[in-house]
Amino acid sequence: MKIICIGRNYTKHIEELQNERPTEPVIFLKPDTAILPKNFPFFIPDFSSDIHHEVEILVKINRVGKHIDPKFAHKYYEEIGLGIDFTARDVQSKLKEKGLPWEKAKAFDGSAVIGEFLPKSSFNSLENISFELKNNGETVQAGNTSHMLWKIDELISYVSQYFTLKIGDIIFTGTPEGVAQVKTEDVLEGFIEGKKLFRIQVK
Ligand code: MG
Repeated sequence: MKIICIGRNYTKHIEELQNERPTEPVIFLKPDTAILPKNFPFFIPDFSSDIHHEVEILVKINRVGKHIDPKFAHKYYEEIGLGIDFTARDVQSKLKEKGLPWEKAKAFDGSAVIGEFLPKSSFNSLENISFELKNNGETVQAGNTSHMLWKIDELISYVSQYFTLKIGDIIFTGTPEGVAQVKTEDVLEGFIEGKKLFRIQVK
């Protein structure tokens, strides 16, 4: 399986990192080795002193597809989840300055937290899902899918122009504002509409 991540999909997050507003979705990949095993702590890697949390809505692909029309994209997933795109912001800033690829900052071991999934039928509207990340019990990021620049079905269509989507692939749909550094002993908990979908200890 592969993990496809969307960058810069929420205006306020674009502003907080002083990034340019993209004219099409920003895409990068994480390998399956980036997945943090269930119930494992997240260890801050030696090569970074500024790891940020980015909480994101996840979509699990359940059908093979390529060049998917946006109006059929809904047929390619049944489950919505929540995760963290851990980012070595110091490493990423250096790579961005030089126009280099982001993998060292984004695709390292443990950088993809994948929480539990919920059936999409459990939501009234996928375009109005609220989610949040708590750090040590305090809300640090709160988002709603209504603020996405590109909606889930548009993202699936766009991504599938480049990459064949396969069963089990996961799309990280971008983070809202509030990204910040994690420290050892932090406890990160992710919620969709009040349901806890993951709990991660930082070491
Ligand atoms: Mg992200």
